[in-house]
Amino acid sequence: MSEARETTHFGERQVALEDKQGLVNAVFHGVADRYDLMNDLMSGGIHRLWKDAMVARLAPPKGGRRPYRVLDMAGGTGDIAERIINASVGYAEVTVADINPDMLRVGEERARKWRFPARVEFVAANAEELPFADESFDAYTIAFGIRNVPRIEKALKQAHRVLRRGGRFLCLEFSQADLPVLSEIYKVFSDRVIPPMGRLVTGDAEPYQYLVESIRKFPKPEQFAAMIAKTGFKRVTHTAYTGNIVALHAAWKL
Ligand code: SAM
Repeated sequence: MSEARETTHFGERQVALEDKQGLVNAVFHGVADRYDLMNDLMSGGIHRLWKDAMVARLAPPKGGRRPYRVLDMAGGTGDIAERIINASVGYAEVTVADINPDMLRVGEERARKWRFPARVEFVAANAEELPFADESFDAYTIAFGIRNVPRIEKALKQAHRVLRRGGRFLCLEFSQADLPVLSEIYKVFSDRVIPPMGRLVTGDAEPYQYLVESIRKFPKPEQFAAMIAKTGFKRVTHTAYTGNIVALHAAWKL
């Protein structure tokens, strides 16, 4: 007798839960070298402002009596890490963790030219099973990563586990544009512009089709905030940016 397999979304497709990660990995394997360029093209550079806003909210200290350690999960090519380290003027120590070695390789190459290259380390890790000790970080950041993780609740539990008490959780993720005109423009742009642009720049439209569809399938900010709270995080809030195209979720481990 065959057991009913648990399924999840991979873009519009319904796939077995255990198959999603492999499909996601293939997407980022294919685009790693052009990933940063595509982010700039797709967002008109605005992803930089959203990331700046996340780091401004984190407000990492510029000094102190003990180290300030940040885990930038699904940190890919390291641009959040660079911002955090620069904002702390080289005081913060950032671990960039990502499941995809290709994204990490691009990040490691880029980091050699940073202002404070010695303050970052790159670690291959799955957000669902972190190889870090309990209560070992002061902050956990994740930008445009959580919607790619098959078992989001598991990743949230791991985030909570590795944060010390008083630690900060910040998650930047796409939301649903809600201003009437903007949401129409956004829909046309997502369907008609992003996949062809992806093909032009990376040679393949499919990863960008996945990107558009995965955004549509991700829970609404209120639902995702409820998931964060259920994990045990406190003072859970979310802030909309650019007409709700993106939301910044913030919470504390208290
Ligand atoms: N944080 C970067 C940024 O904001 O540009 C990269 C975001 S990119 C859209 C998503 C990243 O999530 C990819 O680098 C991918 O490899 C990573 N990822 C997907 N599933 C993951 C998992 N289970 N654990 C860790 N990283 C994962």
